[in-house]
Amino acid sequence: MIDLHAHTTASDGSDTPAELIRNAAAAGVHTLAITDHDTTGGWGEAINTVAELEVPFTLIRGTEFSCIHYSDGVWISLHLLGYLFDPEAEALKAERARMRESRLGRGEAIVDALVAAGYPISWQQVVDIAGGGAVGRPHIGQALMQAGVVDSVTDAFAHLLSSSSPYYVPKREMPVQLAIELIRQAGGVPVIAHPWARKRGRILDEAALRSLVAPGLLGIEVDHPDHASADRARLAELSAELGLVSTGSSDYHGTRKSVRLGEETTSARSLQRLLSLATGIDPVRSDPAAEAG
Ligand code: AMP
Ligand code: ZN
Ligand code: FE
Ligand code: FE
Repeated sequence: MIDLHAHTTASDGSDTPAELIRNAAAAGVHTLAITDHDTTGGWGEAINTVAELEVPFTLIRGTEFSCIHYSDGVWISLHLLGYLFDPEAEALKAERARMRESRLGRGEAIVDALVAAGYPISWQQVVDIAGGGAVGRPHIGQALMQAGVVDSVTDAFAHLLSSSSPYYVPKREMPVQLAIELIRQAGGVPVIAHPWARKRGRILDEAALRSLVAPGLLGIEVDHPDHASADRARLAELSAELGLVSTGSSDYHGTRKSVRLGEETTSARSLQRLLSLATGIDPVRSDPAAEAG
């Protein structure tokens, strides 16, 4: 199985990068992308773990970038996956740092609003849960769960943490066209993440998706747990029509979401196309033969 979207403790997943790699291999995923929010912080540990594996395994290094799209007076938040870009490319690196910094102030503002409304959590608790990873709403959700306010992180998102909640505070996001250009300049492959995950808020329409081809978009995440089957069918058609790579992935977050590794997958053909488009960095492969010898 090929799964190209997974989170770790470097952002809002609950597996460490080492646990993610081992769990993926145990689940029968032979090619995995690590795609934490706005950071490459988990890459090093993931590489070291792949080197120790005794099964064939390919690690695709990536990041999920927080982006914004503007058209006709409407702002839409969205996520853009970037695969195999050079992590030292300066403009993109600086922007990742600014986005992580903004996640801190914004996370604290959401917690302040929840505390003012009487919810028994604290910013320090959220910082501890995040453990140095890029702070996100799932960490606040876990604090709410520990406080007995909700039964699960998903429950917390239903009201308190949703983008329509009175406690919601936005964070820094990159204009998506700029993010696409910077990923391409860094030799990476930009793929729109879960474009039609409708329950998260406003989504890009077909015209907006088409408009991202000119700045350099290379793929669309077609199969995703938050996509309805009719939407998957239409996205697959659109992706083929536009000559883009179609991917499928679980968006695994460990215990902070209910999806399993390999729950959605990418075809071998799509993976080959994606790899052929990348010029930034190489996939990292385990070498089980060397272990045996
Ligand atoms: P943030 O990055 O802080 O804006 O939080 C968004 C993150 O929360 C995304 O990575 C999603 O994967 C996660 N998320 C969004 N909706 C839900 C949900 N209903 N249940 C659990 N996690 C969610
Ligand atoms: Zn996440
Ligand atoms: Fe996402
Ligand atoms: Fe994600």
